[in-house]
Amino acid sequence: MISSQDTIAALATPVGEGGIGVIRVSGSESIPAVDTIFRSAKITHLSQAASHTCWIGKLYANKGKEPPEVIDQVVVTVFRAPHSYTGEDVVEISAHGNPLLLDRILRACLNQGARLAGPGEFTERAFLSGKMDLTQAEAVADLIRAKTDKGQAAAVAQMEGRLAGKIRGLRDRLLPLLAHVEVGLDHSDEDHDFLKRQQLISGCQALEEEIAAILDSAPLGKVLRDGLRVALLGKPNVGKSSLLNSLLNEERAIVTPVPGTTRDTLEETLNWDGIPVVLTDTAGLREYTGDPIEELGIARSRKAAAAADLILGIFDGSGPFSSEDKQVIKECAAFPHIWVVNKSDLPSQWNLSELARLNGGAPAIQISAKTGAGLSTLIRKVKETVLAQSANSGEAGWVLNLRHQDALSRTQEALKQAREAAKSAAFEECVALELQSALRSLGEIIGETPTEELLGQIFSQFCVGK
Ligand code: GDP
Repeated sequence: MISSQDTIAALATPVGEGGIGVIRVSGSESIPAVDTIFRSAKITHLSQAASHTCWIGKLYANKGKEPPEVIDQVVVTVFRAPHSYTGEDVVEISAHGNPLLLDRILRACLNQGARLAGPGEFTERAFLSGKMDLTQAEAVADLIRAKTDKGQAAAVAQMEGRLAGKIRGLRDRLLPLLAHVEVGLDHSDEDHDFLKRQQLISGCQALEEEIAAILDSAPLGKVLRDGLRVALLGKPNVGKSSLLNSLLNEERAIVTPVPGTTRDTLEETLNWDGIPVVLTDTAGLREYTGDPIEELGIARSRKAAAAADLILGIFDGSGPFSSEDKQVIKECAAFPHIWVVNKSDLPSQWNLSELARLNGGAPAIQISAKTGAGLSTLIRKVKETVLAQSANSGEAGWVLNLRHQDALSRTQEALKQAREAAKSAAFEECVALELQSALRSLGEIIGETPTEELLGQIFSQFCVGK
């Protein structure tokens, strides 16, 4: 585990020019370290500063030496342990937002004995000092990355302990079941024993069902956190780039009348009523043309299709239905998809009922990327697929990551095993072991006994300074 003895420092604001930039210093030596390079007319030494106070003054590269070299006029905020983000003494230096200047301030702090913080180390310290549990720490990263209001609201709820509260609630109901088993079933009284087993079985079942409901809402949570990934697929020249552009309302992809010019994939995130939608324009699918670069693009298209939550299979309604279109249908059919027939502004050569037949009866959407006709229907249809996911879930919007899902699935499995064991009148030890395993998996989610490896995995995804 990272030693919390060190005092760490990092830039907490983005690199670049800005109104202000903030350097955050945390650890037992943070106040003396900054005090050495700071001078204020308002306070002799920062060590006298009360918690949650701000001090205006000058920050020096070499305080004490002559001539003193001022880096910037800054505001220093002092937070004393345990009333800080990390739970340790923290000093935040707000300076003018110039990257060179902020770099000099950071170096000055490092010269005073602080070391550069690793990714997420401030938040890791907050976790280690018990200021937050693991789900809350993860929510901090989600919040920083959230791309829409809904994603942000879900992250804030998790940061405030919504998921952790739910997990603790499950654990509080599991504990009496385990206690029940551990005090031993009373074999001398068969009726009583039967009753106890029944209670145990129904208790496990209720918990399993509740976990299933949480897991069911995972797809929506994933969409809120990572965005709905929508891939545009179709043979070259059907208007994929044009559609992306009309959806974006800007000229991002290169639109040309020569087939096969979108050789790479392009990604753009849109905000549709709070749902982040990540649109990927692909190179298009077609049989091998002999052009290795284009072939690479096609391989990427397939990859984008496999990674997508939804595929828009695009066709050109003004041209004949070709074997390449058939290929697109074949490639997309295995994934959730919507068929889109483009160029509705031109005379149609398509039999839409034939496409519906190929699509198991579901109608295709006719649009014109050129005029914008049908786009609102398409957007509505995409949104409906997301809402359909949430309608299937009993619990609205549990934003689970893979780690939570994995631990919950293991809890569910252990509960099932415990129930089976109780049913088959197995030894209490078997039931108890399964319930203990269920309890451990729940504990993993909030980080009751975290391993160094797990913490490394979680916090390495953070940015430095958070
Ligand atoms: P991609 O290869 O599938 O990305 O296709 P592009 O977006 O590059 O479009 C190919 C050609 O079709 C371009 O000349 C576009 O201007 C034209 N195009 C795209 N959408 C429409 C449309 O809705 N109507 C008409 N008339 N032309 C379109």
